[in-house]
Amino acid sequence: MSDIHDLDRRYVFHPFSVAQNHQQSGATMMARSAEGCWITDDAGKRYLDAMAGLWCVNVGYGRERIADALADQARQLSYFHGFSSMATEPAAILAERVISKAPEGFSKVFFGASGSDANDTQAKIVWYYNNLRDMPQKKKIIARDRGYHGVTVMSAGLTGLPGLHAGFDLPLPMIRHVSAPHNLWTRNAGEDDAAFTARMAQELDDLIVAEGPDTVAAFIAEPVMGAGGVIVPPEGYFPAMQQVLDRHDVLLIADEVICGFGRLGTWFGSDRMNMKPDLMSVAKGITSGYAPLSAVLVGEKVWSVICEGSAKYGAFGHGYTYTAHPVTAAAALANLDIVEEENLVTRAGEMGDYMNASLKKAFADLPITAETRGCGLMAAVEFAKPHGDSWQKFDPAAGVGPRIVRAALEDGVICRALPNGDAISFSPPFTVTHEEIDLAVSTVRKAAGTVHDALRAENAL
Ligand code: PMP
Repeated sequence: MSDIHDLDRRYVFHPFSVAQNHQQSGATMMARSAEGCWITDDAGKRYLDAMAGLWCVNVGYGRERIADALADQARQLSYFHGFSSMATEPAAILAERVISKAPEGFSKVFFGASGSDANDTQAKIVWYYNNLRDMPQKKKIIARDRGYHGVTVMSAGLTGLPGLHAGFDLPLPMIRHVSAPHNLWTRNAGEDDAAFTARMAQELDDLIVAEGPDTVAAFIAEPVMGAGGVIVPPEGYFPAMQQVLDRHDVLLIADEVICGFGRLGTWFGSDRMNMKPDLMSVAKGITSGYAPLSAVLVGEKVWSVICEGSAKYGAFGHGYTYTAHPVTAAAALANLDIVEEENLVTRAGEMGDYMNASLKKAFADLPITAETRGCGLMAAVEFAKPHGDSWQKFDPAAGVGPRIVRAALEDGVICRALPNGDAISFSPPFTVTHEEIDLAVSTVRKAAGTVHDALRAENAL
């Protein structure tokens, strides 16, 4: 039999990987086991996973209880769908449970299998809503630079990262972007929170007016941007943006795929960031990654129009084979039991404060630390070249972020380099301990110090 690495190299088409490089370097194969925040590769090397996979393994690896729930449900009823008014018990119980945690005004749950498909569902819901309201022109969706909303044809366009558009003829023509509220690169020198927020809101208003409010359907935003750089908005940002949206009858979609189910120390990021969304997308934390499940939460304002208008189009012509899959719903219920019983939402907030303070302290004396930022158990450190009183981005070809991540990986800590700048992120399981945070921070600090010294030796500073 072929070596497993050989099989991977020969047959697997890897996402977000450079094909030619992968052909040469092959994979890091996670094979043996995983427990809590720790994962072991097929060579027996242990890693502290400071990213919870891809921001998703919130309750940690190795939970027997979720494994049992998956197995029990697969034995009892492995599959049935939700089309044509069919239903299964776990999905109904889960929908009620999700709505009970959601902010006021949410009444319905539409299940999917990924964050990307949830955001495609969002686009279709807002178009359908405006068609039912006899506003067929009101279809554009505004997202933000650096926002991450997925990779399907619609959601990749909403994503404000050039690497997801290049080569794919995206975004689709009805998508627009506004600036991210990025303290380091978007805020003007000397601009305080109020002025910065007012400028961001004005930019949104100007865009909607220029496009024509009767052509703009929705604005989509993560409470705290994740993959685009862990960008935490100033406190008044969402209320100010929301005033603009309300003025122009534009819906707010909160993309809670990372923030939802506790990562910011509140059940939803909207709670912490003062957002009052009409629609929410959730995924990752709903099952802690034990099964692929996403959901669109629909507020009463949109639902009442869809429900009353259902005579116009007949059956809602949207849904996936795996919408409301009972096995994934059973995993979600077991996962939410753990989150509640172990009080993990509160814990995420407390451990997040500790992690953010530790990162700030550890990186303060490194000359290439441009910013350390975060909220709850999401954080990033961004590296740049000192440039007088401000900062200059490194040449992307220098690969500063990826070099630091590789050096940390060598030393057994998994973090992630984020695109469009040299930020590296941290998003550990909610069960992370103080000692594990200390280890992650000190290992990455050491890696960053080594890369800093190498950059100096290369005259790259
Ligand atoms: N929205 C956000 C905020 C995300 O972080 C992600 C995934 N990182 C997605 C959507 C897409 O989710 P998926 O990869 O499950 O399609």
